[in-house]
Amino acid sequence: MSPIYLDHNATTPLCWQAKQAMLEILDVCGNASSTHNDGRRVRQYVEKARAKVADYFAVTPAQVVFTSGATEANNLVLKGFNGPVITSAIEHDSVLKARNDLTICPVTAEGIIDLEALETELQQVTRPCLVSVMAANNETGVMQPLQEIVGLCRKYQALMHSDAVQVVGKIDFDWQQLGLDYISLSAHKIGGPQGVGALVVNPNRALRPQITGGGQERYFRAGTENVLGIVGLGAAIEACRHNDWIEVASLRQDLEASLRANFKDIAIFGAQVPRLPNTVNLTMPGVVNTVQVMHFDLNSISLSAGSACSSGKVKPSHVLQAMGVDGKDIDNSIRISLGLQTTQVEIQHFIETWENLYYRTHGGEQTRRIKQ
Ligand code: PMP
Repeated sequence: MSPIYLDHNATTPLCWQAKQAMLEILDVCGNASSTHNDGRRVRQYVEKARAKVADYFAVTPAQVVFTSGATEANNLVLKGFNGPVITSAIEHDSVLKARNDLTICPVTAEGIIDLEALETELQQVTRPCLVSVMAANNETGVMQPLQEIVGLCRKYQALMHSDAVQVVGKIDFDWQQLGLDYISLSAHKIGGPQGVGALVVNPNRALRPQITGGGQERYFRAGTENVLGIVGLGAAIEACRHNDWIEVASLRQDLEASLRANFKDIAIFGAQVPRLPNTVNLTMPGVVNTVQVMHFDLNSISLSAGSACSSGKVKPSHVLQAMGVDGKDIDNSIRISLGLQTTQVEIQHFIETWENLYYRTHGGEQTRRIKQ
């Protein structure tokens, strides 16, 4: 069996469009800030990519600031915002650790921000204030009610930022109508290269640069542009508009239905609310996730245990903790995130590998399988 990659929320394979676009400029020399012909040529590549990102979000190119990824985009908004910031307990660490004065809103058992708690905070907080809530969670796939959150922000004259990393290319939003003030995105979650992303900024909103020096990115982000990455991001975001996730959603549904039918004791988090089509976070009772990940790895399947931090260690998921999930269930949970190339055969192999570990740890199939 060839390797099976089920960790697309961690990173995605480079799509052919990004690869082709990047190959094309590998031999092009020039600094986009130089005024000579070579510089102007490279500038054109950067601006074409900017136009593609702008097009995706229905904004003007001047509203796009390229960064080294979503971590930097999140930091750029939150660190630079001059006023209190309200966020949710399930945000990515690049939001939660951007400042130490955040007001954290709780989430429901299904992982959705508690809108009443958010409104209470909005009533009490001083202005100007920023609300930062992700569009969909990377660990559970649970989507947040952005429309309602923007509505509350407008009601209380707060600005709204969303870390849209996991929804871009997967969910069709009417971004213009939604009217967010700041949006973060990352290239490597949508078939682009790692180490590049962008922040989309409403033109009437302030942005305080965090990296200063040169005047690149209209002074919002100093440093010679990562042209290769930016070109890859432009190609990837243009291509991802045509992605069709219906098949993936159906494979995910098959996976969940198959395990649920035979193993009544598993928990699937966020199963009752809108989720990304490719993500499932579930438990194998009695088996810690580090053991599960190793077992899958030995069977050529890559997936992840809750939230794997950059040091490679697994820490208990703050997302599941915020949802009030029992500690044991957190320890036993894994995230499977499918991609556009995931096949039925691969999902079948995943299910068999999962069952194999379950039976090995719980006794034989005959004793454990629950008859339908
Ligand atoms: N936000 C979310 C929701 C993510 O999933 C990630 C990547 N794990 C990031 C931010 C950080 O993105 P990047 O790798 O581009 O810094």
